Amino acid sequence: MLLQNILTFFLGSKHERDLKELVPLVQKINAREPEAMAYADAEFPRKTEEFRRRIAEGESLDSMVPEAYALVREAARRKLGERIFDVQLMGAVVLHKGRITEMKTGEGKTLASVPAAYLNSLTGKGVHVITVNDYLAERDARWMGPIYELLGVSVGVILSQMDNEVRKVSYSKDITYGTNNEFGFDYLRDNMCWSPSEKVQRGHAYAIVDEIDNILIDEARTPLIISGMAEDDTFKFAEVNKLVDQLTECEKDPQTGTYPEGEAQPAGDFKIEEKNKRVTFTDQGMNHIEQLLQKRGLIRGSLFVDENFEYIHYFTQALRAHKLYALDVDYVVQDGKVQIVDEFTGRILYGRRYSEGLHQAIEAKERIKIAQRNRTLATITFQNYFRMYGKLAGMTGTADTEAQEFGKIYNLEVVVIPTNRPVVREDRDDEIYLTEEEKLEAICTSISELHGRGQPVLVGTISIEKSEHLSRMLVARGIRHEVLNAKNHAREAMIIADAGARSSVTIATNMAGRGTDIKLGGNAEFRARRKAGTQADEEAFRAALTEEYPKWLSDYEEVKGVGGLHVLGTERHEARRIDNQLRGRSGRQGDPGSSRFYISLEDDLMRLFGGENIKGLMSRMGMKKGEPIVHPWLNRAIERAQKKVEERNFEVRKHLLEYDDVLNEQRKFIYARRDEIISDPHLKDRVISTGEDLFGEIFERFRTSNDMPQVRAASLLAQILESLFHEPRLTAAQIASLPAEEVNRTIREELRDSINQKTSEIGEEILNRFIQFEYLRAIDSRWQDHLENLEALREAVYLRAYSQKNPLLEYKLEGFQIFDDMLYEIKTNIARKIFRVRIQQAPAQPPAGVRPGAQLQASHSAMGQFAAGGSATTAVGAQGAVPVAARSGGRGGSAFGGGNGGGGSQPQQVQVKRAVPKVGRNDPCPCGSGKKYKYCHGQ
Ligand code: ADP
Ligand code: MG
Repeated sequence: MLLQNILTFFLGSKHERDLKELVPLVQKINAREPEAMAYADAEFPRKTEEFRRRIAEGESLDSMVPEAYALVREAARRKLGERIFDVQLMGAVVLHKGRITEMKTGEGKTLASVPAAYLNSLTGKGVHVITVNDYLAERDARWMGPIYELLGVSVGVILSQMDNEVRKVSYSKDITYGTNNEFGFDYLRDNMCWSPSEKVQRGHAYAIVDEIDNILIDEARTPLIISGMAEDDTFKFAEVNKLVDQLTECEKDPQTGTYPEGEAQPAGDFKIEEKNKRVTFTDQGMNHIEQLLQKRGLIRGSLFVDENFEYIHYFTQALRAHKLYALDVDYVVQDGKVQIVDEFTGRILYGRRYSEGLHQAIEAKERIKIAQRNRTLATITFQNYFRMYGKLAGMTGTADTEAQEFGKIYNLEVVVIPTNRPVVREDRDDEIYLTEEEKLEAICTSISELHGRGQPVLVGTISIEKSEHLSRMLVARGIRHEVLNAKNHAREAMIIADAGARSSVTIATNMAGRGTDIKLGGNAEFRARRKAGTQADEEAFRAALTEEYPKWLSDYEEVKGVGGLHVLGTERHEARRIDNQLRGRSGRQGDPGSSRFYISLEDDLMRLFGGENIKGLMSRMGMKKGEPIVHPWLNRAIERAQKKVEERNFEVRKHLLEYDDVLNEQRKFIYARRDEIISDPHLKDRVISTGEDLFGEIFERFRTSNDMPQVRAASLLAQILESLFHEPRLTAAQIASLPAEEVNRTIREELRDSINQKTSEIGEEILNRFIQFEYLRAIDSRWQDHLENLEALREAVYLRAYSQKNPLLEYKLEGFQIFDDMLYEIKTNIARKIFRVRIQQAPAQPPAGVRPGAQLQASHSAMGQFAAGGSATTAVGAQGAVPVAARSGGRGGSAFGGGNGGGGSQPQQVQVKRAVPKVGRNDPCPCGSGKKYKYCHGQ
């Protein structure tokens, strides 16, 4: 179609304005074409080099569009024998601009994305091309490969069963093809890894998302989740629970009800602070714990070596569970579960869990089975994954109906590109029946008729069950047909490629065989491939193709003669977009074709959203049993019903995203911290500064306290022990007599010394690895707690809507609060451990991709067939979860495919090797200083 005609076609609309912008560019590209045609093949990579150089020198990509696109067009002509149409170039410009291009099915979007991918790859930052399944990723990369090869840019593909190393290579290419799931999971896994070298992705500069409506709208409601078994420490909780009542509380002054003040080393094992629900151990208490554990054979040697250190944490939580948390006050036990009671409102916070193991400690106390839980380790929604890209572009046959959503939520503009040739498909009015039974009868009759005439039919159904039901009906009538339900993409591509053959009947759910072209008369190439066999070489294939081609040509003419492909929709979907997708399968590239939807008043859409309007219309038109009604008014009424549902679903998705935003900000923050820690060679500085911060808070309380000098000195010491596990060399008496600033300076110095001493003992590198390990472990496990808490909070705030509260606001505020608490916990835990523990050697690095104690399982629950983000409140919608990918043992595993979880096997333990024999806290220090170990290197 000439550019001029295109313009008059869209006269006066937004579409026209969009195109007016594009036409001059296309003309410029056309003008550069003769130049590109004159290049020898060897010239192409040289041009690519030249472009790269010019970009490096500051030239903008925009200014290079005409030249670069003309070059790609010529490369495609040479390598694929297809000259990129003007309309495809328009689409390619839209992609480069970071917008969505709507191009109908069969218009050649695969090829249209190449110029944009090529141009943007020249920056060297990597381009991701996203497809909906592995089959298409591989196909497209291979199909477009020769063009890229001629141009001199590299291409990679990411497939689900690939291991880490291969992935990394693929991501290092100029252009990388792969599915949304794989890209999303890789991002999550990259943020679970333990060193920068394990990461496979190298940033998110530019992505072109094929079938973008499917990914950002249909799949918007289910996040990607990586889950796994946490480290199994349930037995430690149970054991400690049995020991904890042997500890004794420090004696309180019977008169004041408080602990005697001013004693730095009081008699008793622990003190309780009811006000802020804290427990602190005395020196004696720690020794007591050590003895108890040794006697029970739970530890050998000192409590203060890294592998035993965790027991302090178990005892702390066990004591808190026993002394500070009361059944039916702070929590209740219901159906074998501990449920938290909100301290302000008295409401039960279903699903919320106390963090840091307190919940398990309470479970142990209540003798409830401490569940080793399969938990979410990382999660992200597609929206948030794709919003990370510096520039995002998309393409699909059906975006315009959702243009508002793309605009509002993703800030993505939709540009509708006209078809290369006018669409001549005849979209007939819906046929409406009273009952589903009558409808199905009519459908079978129609299929039988078309089949008899030799016209191919593609039958769209909304679910697997319905397609199987219809299949049985056709079997009964002896009509040969194929049934596709999006299970085996490669096999289905073969079948759908032939769906345009004479007399073929193909029943499909809407995901089935997507992305594969339906050619009238069948697909000669696929047939030749089948004939030659999968092992055949290029020559054998060519021979088969030469044989098949004339046969196909005559079939093609014949099918054209009987009206082309007929699309028969067995039910209207709740979104018009999905109906349009189905229709769009027919009438590609100006082919003849037709479509019709069949509807019954028993269909979900009609029952739930049709309303009186449609029924009224029907009765006015006089509906009789077994006879359909066909009228344009009805089509419009149905469309209104669909619009209503679409709008509501949009609201639901928007709402979900608002909630998800909270998590997203926090995830970004945590991942950024994680990245810093992974690549920081001087983590000890971080620990020192955390220590000083924590001490600063304590010191501030000390400085401003109005207590007696002895009392506030003792309290200072207790707090330092509590929050840093550090025992200052200064005694309470010394502190009481020194000027405050002197105390401040001395203790800060001690803290720094304590870390520096560790550095000189084991070397900074080992210390750094140790700290890193501890940090990552703390961040990951707290973050996982947090994910669970946010999830529960989300449910809890919904209930608050009944009490005139704004749930989203509550969620944001509380979500922020618990996040803040989490960060604080992480900090203090690290500081305590690093200051106190005796490090013997750095932990062994966990194997690539596997975190300690985790069996990974990646999953994404796909929405049901035809169920475009179906709403949870109606019967029309998701058909249930389908696990898309399951892989155990991190990326390296090959257990792809089944829905098998990762459970069962023992979590990996991180081995810490001992370099020196263990020393008791009260033994003389092995360094020979003559001091007790606990006052020397055991600090
Ligand atoms: P879409 O993704 O838009 O549905 P495809 O990329 O699958 O379309 O391409 C559909 C068909 O059109 C393919 O068989 C392809 O070879 C063909 N095609 C694409 N562009 C051209 C072109 N410029 N000239 C000739 N054929 C083309
Ligand atoms: Mg496609």
